[in-house]
Amino acid sequence: MGKIISIINQKGGVGKTTTAVNLAAELADKGHKTLLIDEDAQGNSTSGLSKDVKFGKDLYDVLLDDADAKEAAVKTAVKKLWLLPSSIDLAGAEIEIAGLPEREFLLRKKLAAIKDSYDYILIDCPPSLGLLTLNALVASDSIIIPIQAEFYALEGLSQLVKTVQVVSRKLNPSLHILGILLTMFDGRTNLSLQVAEEVKKYFGSKVFRTVIPRTVKLSEAPSFGEPILTYAPKSKGAEAYKKLSREVVRRD
Ligand code: ADP
Ligand code: MG
Repeated sequence: MGKIISIINQKGGVGKTTTAVNLAAELADKGHKTLLIDEDAQGNSTSGLSKDVKFGKDLYDVLLDDADAKEAAVKTAVKKLWLLPSSIDLAGAEIEIAGLPEREFLLRKKLAAIKDSYDYILIDCPPSLGLLTLNALVASDSIIIPIQAEFYALEGLSQLVKTVQVVSRKLNPSLHILGILLTMFDGRTNLSLQVAEEVKKYFGSKVFRTVIPRTVKLSEAPSFGEPILTYAPKSKGAEAYKKLSREVVRRD
């Protein structure tokens, strides 16, 4: 059975997309057949994996135009890694979904048909707690919450945790937090260390042992349409996401 994991935090710029792309690539590299779903209209996961890829249908067509998820998924340049791309059409999807029956279950129903074709399906969520994110929560087995090791890191987290609790109580009982991931960590600053401590106080053993360092290579890779795994395989960022993939496999 494939595992569906959403990468979620309603704040923008916390490392969701960087984590989705690079964790997906590392899982694939370990031999797990992996699908990354880009659920953000900004399409950053899509462009971050665009090297040598031709796009056809996208997530909008799957959710609102009855396209098949399998048919919309494209093979990326990374072995065993597929992508269900996003497009700007998705920007209007929230409003269109709002009027549909069983509107929280659209993605879940679409993924039911393909869940067993992959070992892992990761969903890169948009920066909001709207209907698209709700669809991701209802479709997922678990979630990873990236937290940027910066000031205001914990802001909004209690709202996110409450949303997850409501969804697991009312719509998807198996949903749970797989782990909390500290991103853009700079061990030389007191601020990063303080945030790490606070996050551990709040989430305890849910916090991944792996911490993602702030590195220039991680921020450069997307402009080449590649994950860090192929862009800079020996870099600290690649090492960190490889370690994270081991923890994810162990925990799930
Ligand atoms: P989100 O998807 O949550 O909005 P992104 O993954 O797009 O966040 O990251 C926001 C910005 O920070 C991007 O420009 C990205 O390249 C950069 N970034 C993310 N993680 C790191 C990191 N570990 N080191 C350096 N830059 C990073
Ligand atoms: Mg993003």
